[in-house]
Amino acid sequence: MNCERCKTAIEKGDEMEYSGQILCEDCYMDALSPARACDPWTVYSAKSFEKHTGGLAITELQTQILEILKETGGIPRPGLLERLKGKITASQLERELATLRHMEKIRAEKRGDQVFVRLW
Ligand SMILES: [Zn+2]
Repeated sequence: MNCERCKTAIEKGDEMEYSGQILCEDCYMDALSPARACDPWTVYSAKSFEKHTGGLAITELQTQILEILKETGGIPRPGLLERLKGKITASQLERELATLRHMEKIRAEKRGDQVFVRLW
C-alpha cells in the first residue's frame, strides 16, 4: 500500500484515511493542519509583530541589529551573527536583514573581499 500523496510505502496498519484518500502519517498530519503551528516563520513573524511599537515596524531584534551596526560602523554577517549569539539562526538573520534592507535601514557594502552590513 502506498500513500496517495507522496507515494511512500505505508506499513500495514499505519495507513491513515483522509477524505477518501489513503495517506501515510506525515501526509495525514499535513492534511489535518495545512498551516502547521511549528512553521518557524509563522511563529517568528507573529512574535515580531507583537513587538511592533508606536507604529514603527521595528522589532527589538532589528533594533539590536541596528545598534550593532551603529557601534561597529559595519560588520560582516558572521560577525553580526556572533554578536547576536544564540538568539537567532543564520536564516533568521537573513530575514531580519532583508526586512531592514527593505526599510532602507541598512545596506550591504563590499570591503575587500568581504561583504559588510552597514547602516544605510
Ligand atoms: Zn505520504
